[in-house]
Amino acid sequence: MHKRILIVEDEPAIRDMVAFALRKGEYEPVHAGDAQQAQIAIADRIPDLILLDWMLPGTSGLELARRWRRETLTREIPIIMLTARGEENDRVAGLESGVDDYVVKPFSARELLARIRAVLRRSREDDEDGSVSIGALRIDGAAHRVFAGTAGGEQPVQIGPTEYRLLHFFMTHADRVYSRSQLLDHVWGGSVYVEERTIDVHIRRLRKTLEPFALDGMVQTVRGAGYRFSGAVDS
Ligand code: CA
Repeated sequence: MHKRILIVEDEPAIRDMVAFALRKGEYEPVHAGDAQQAQIAIADRIPDLILLDWMLPGTSGLELARRWRRETLTREIPIIMLTARGEENDRVAGLESGVDDYVVKPFSARELLARIRAVLRRSREDDEDGSVSIGALRIDGAAHRVFAGTAGGEQPVQIGPTEYRLLHFFMTHADRVYSRSQLLDHVWGGSVYVEERTIDVHIRRLRKTLEPFALDGMVQTVRGAGYRFSGAVDS
């Protein structure tokens, strides 16, 4: 059965373009033009993912996302926000409301489908000792070591302790955008002595660490929002 994706968007042209792309990607699109229609669609059947426009008549996409994150019925549904270029600065607010990812208008069908697949794939192979592997990167959680390359041709990665924790957090939470303050909370334990700018420094070091293996592109900057680690590196 095809995964059902709810599109909450008031502009017919974008809604139709998205629905067309979703059908091509073998998803089942459902439309809602505002918050009320969205509630009805969700009550009818819980979607596998929601594409939520930021600018909606009446209740905004941001308010809706916050509401859905509070309610038991909708808490676990992945949400991808559709934003216009000028709304980039508001994205942090969206991230803090629990949105999983963003797509900035105008976007291509290909880009949209790639983001959807990534968010849906989030249930990664992530076993108890904290070992995780994504693409050509592997963390041996028990040994606290990182390896790069394919099986048989793996090489150990020399990595600092903070970069290790950052990478481990990213790899166990891949394809999701985190703001600097969220990374601070998760990786540094919300230490008040660490400035948000420090995160940029460690991100740069992490990229340098991965550069010799041509894997630095996995650590992505999301303008106006923060950082994302992605196994789906688009060349
Ligand atoms: Ca709109």
